[in-house]
Amino acid sequence: MALPISSAQVENPTPTWVDCWASEDQISEEMYEFCNEHHSIAPEKRLYEIRWVFLNVSQDKIPNDWVDIQLNNLNAVFSKWNFRFQTSERVVIEDAVAESNDYHQKWTLREILPDLRAQLGLSDEEEQALIDLKEQLAERHVSQRSLDELTLDEEFNTAGAFRLASRARSEDITVVIRPNLDAGGKSGGPNDEFQSADGGAVELNTNLLSSGALTTLPHEMGHYFGLSHTHVLGFNTPEAKFDFNNLWSRMEFGGDALRRAVGEDYSQPFGEQWIPYSASDQEVEEFNQLIPESLVWPVWRLTYHGDHQDFDNLAEFIAAGEAGEMIYRKNFQRNYVLEGQAPEWWGNNCIWNDLTQQGQCRYHEPMQVFDYNDSTIQDVMFFENGTSSNLMSYITPDYDNVSSRNGLSSEQIDKMRFGANTPTRLLLRNHCLGTSLCDGWPEQTDPSGEEEIVEESDNEPTEDDSTPVIEMIAAIIAILLIIPGWAVALLAIFAYFVRKSRKEN
Ligand SMILES: [Zn+2]
Repeated sequence: MALPISSAQVENPTPTWVDCWASEDQISEEMYEFCNEHHSIAPEKRLYEIRWVFLNVSQDKIPNDWVDIQLNNLNAVFSKWNFRFQTSERVVIEDAVAESNDYHQKWTLREILPDLRAQLGLSDEEEQALIDLKEQLAERHVSQRSLDELTLDEEFNTAGAFRLASRARSEDITVVIRPNLDAGGKSGGPNDEFQSADGGAVELNTNLLSSGALTTLPHEMGHYFGLSHTHVLGFNTPEAKFDFNNLWSRMEFGGDALRRAVGEDYSQPFGEQWIPYSASDQEVEEFNQLIPESLVWPVWRLTYHGDHQDFDNLAEFIAAGEAGEMIYRKNFQRNYVLEGQAPEWWGNNCIWNDLTQQGQCRYHEPMQVFDYNDSTIQDVMFFENGTSSNLMSYITPDYDNVSSRNGLSSEQIDKMRFGANTPTRLLLRNHCLGTSLCDGWPEQTDPSGEEEIVEESDNEPTEDDSTPVIEMIAAIIAILLIIPGWAVALLAIFAYFVRKSRKEN
């Protein structure tokens, strides 16, 4: 495989990793050189294009600068990890067929052709439109079996419809902005089905067009590249026990894929997991097995044991779990039970404190407050002296023109890079490769430092986002807690209303 490196410029557009992987046998010399130079080792820099698809939004409801502001903020958050984004196209479908708040509402492919034509430029004639669609999907390496199954009578719900269209543009990231989304944003992570006709997409609620909120898109992009939340829901105790056995039972391949990455004794760093384009089918399958199993990698930094002691490494975390030692989560949401005793606090245990302008995490009763100065919190939950929070949390510090929910632990950065290196996400075209577009970017930060990239996705397909209400109430609680007499009664009232509103999800 060690051929001389060539700087040959390949035809525009340049081949993606999957283009190279799929055309091993009938590859031109020029393409072979490109593939070998750019898809044999992991890229240091990534530049992706975004297609913004507005469903049921009228053109005049989209502020002229909205896309650019969202994009600038996204780049301000992600460029420190050498991920950047630019716009490929904007599609506004003012009267989309497939846009509903009912997950079960479905349309046939025949019925959604107007939506697909608007996005993909298919023929006006039905049968020819189907042929055009299949051609576009085939060019992007959808398997013959998936293509054969696609008929004009096949049914799609809203997400199914825009994900089919996004698969026909799999070289770009599709961001769908629509009014019926039941959250501020939503996104699934990579899966092992990179040759299916089902594409991925980030969804945003059209209320962001008027609110201008900046935290949602970067957070969803974290999910898109496989990152999970820092927190889980549903604890009624002031500390959250971590269910190690449940985690371990979700290791679909008995930990084999994880051990291939970090060694039999779990002692090696996760590093940059990568698969060259020349890999065999078997190697691709084994690489994809790491998608569910890499879930565990960021988790050991998001948990503690004993008296708020960090684990030193993954091996220590797994040894503790297997020995049945108690493990706790650093970040969780505590639900207040109305009929129970009024707690000192409830809701997200990690909050932005408006009074101190610092993030903090609360545990125990009586309450103990841990802030950035605590080693378990520093560069895991909060960053930059406590003024910015974890991208994958629901903690929203104040921000000026750039979202300050923007940090990731080094393990999450590992996982995110792995997500970008899965074949599902290698369908995307990295515009840094074979171009000079990324030449001027600053060098990457030292991997031994605190800020690095990576995390992976579990197979949970979608995640919703927090509503700003939760953060607002958390801030109010923080204030109320310093007025002891009022706190308990008002907390109960707030708890009631928030629980009521959260039942919607
Ligand atoms: Zn989320």
